[in-house]
Amino acid sequence: VEEYIKNYEKLTVLGELAAGVAHEIRNPLTSIKGFFKLLTEKNRDEEDQTYQNVIIDELSRIEQIVNEFMALARPQAIHLKERTNLVQLVKDTVILLNPEAALRDVRIETAFDAEESLIECERNQMKQVFINVMKNAIEAMSDGGTLKIRGCSIDGALYKLTFEDNGAGIDEKRLKKLGTPFFTTKEKGIGLGLTISNKIITEHKGEFKMESEVGKGTKVTVLLKK
Ligand code: ADP
Ligand code: MG
Repeated sequence: VEEYIKNYEKLTVLGELAAGVAHEIRNPLTSIKGFFKLLTEKNRDEEDQTYQNVIIDELSRIEQIVNEFMALARPQAIHLKERTNLVQLVKDTVILLNPEAALRDVRIETAFDAEESLIECERNQMKQVFINVMKNAIEAMSDGGTLKIRGCSIDGALYKLTFEDNGAGIDEKRLKKLGTPFFTTKEKGIGLGLTISNKIITEHKGEFKMESEVGKGTKVTVLLKK
């Protein structure tokens, strides 16, 4: 099974409008959550606490959706390109996600052809891609496993990163839907991670590719120009 994610949703006027609405939702949402937390601290009733926790969890979820949606809909995404050592950036992300990986019995292995590989990119966005891809890999390995990350230069002009997990894999039908906004198979998923990642890599004039086999695992390849 092999499929390239190419046709991700193009932003239309409608998309930008929606991003504006999302932005407007964020402020009242932040105050609702803040003041509700204050009320919660005053109310120690046990049954109420259960309901209050549900409300706070759900408010956090709306917050997360709005934030991710805005990251996706933001019109001019790249404006802060800087020379970045991709190897270090990947390593930083691994450190960030190691606790979550450990909780799920996932080991993260890295191998690079050199300790340094400089690329012009928007650092935070690139890190967001690595976080999204690694999280997906960890979440796909519910019974533990290994996430293998490799990085190497190609002909001195390209840098190739691969993230390979031995998790659940994705069947052909689902593979075609990947990258469609809000497509998720997870109970608590949002389905924007891959859409955002693909958008960021495409905006960096790179390539984002996914290959997968059910029961064997998934390999994500990110190709970037040096
Ligand atoms: P979310 O993680 O919120 O579901 P994503 O856009 O990150 O949204 O991923 C969309 C879907 O793609 C996931 O719900 C999952 O079904 C599938 N997927 C992504 N990465 C992997 C992976 N490494 N292994 C198996 N399935 C994956
Ligand atoms: Mg995800």
